[in-house]
Amino acid sequence: MARTIEPDCRQCRREGCKLFLKGERCTTKKCAMERRPVIPGQHGNSKRRVAFSEYGTQLREKQKVKRMYGILEKQFREYYEKARKVEGATGEQMLISIEKRLDNVVYRMGIGRSRKQARQIVNHGLITVNGKRVNIPSYSVKVGDVIAIKENKQSNEMFKDLKGSKVVMPKWLTFDTNSLSGKIENLPTREDIDTDIREQLIVELYSR
Ligand code: SF4
Repeated sequence: MARTIEPDCRQCRREGCKLFLKGERCTTKKCAMERRPVIPGQHGNSKRRVAFSEYGTQLREKQKVKRMYGILEKQFREYYEKARKVEGATGEQMLISIEKRLDNVVYRMGIGRSRKQARQIVNHGLITVNGKRVNIPSYSVKVGDVIAIKENKQSNEMFKDLKGSKVVMPKWLTFDTNSLSGKIENLPTREDIDTDIREQLIVELYSR
């Protein structure tokens, strides 16, 4: 699957905010946005983002969300096009569809430390939905779906710290760290999604 090759921390510096792409490191002082929050490249130290055009601001917002969820342009645009056909605010519907991706759910449940790791976990076939292996990161979850780590993979070193731990997650999800299985209790609402996303800017960009 094609992915951006730009290093994770550089992507955060490019967008001027934390995108939480590296798991635990993102909440420590080692985070590049704590140590050196400047735009990458030759003019990194010059005053930044003081005079973005309207188009530039919209474009940066789209890039930020794409990078945050690790989605490429074509697929991102498809989420927008589908959202346009659904009742409700387009930006909100687009974000909700993205939030329902299986790789994002695996991340939100604490199974993966970052969305990138969560996607690998799904790709490698370590996750089941309603008892069946699903290795498609973009799979859209539904209310009542049971998401679990495959039984014969639960002893994997990767999940050692997860077992019995306390995970904070959005209220639309539950996950039992003893049985390593969880459930989609409700569909996410806009309030469940990161508040610093200005989705209206993305809608304006695509409506040009
Ligand atoms: Fe971004 Fe995480 Fe790197 Fe910090 S540590 S710059 S939040 S990817």
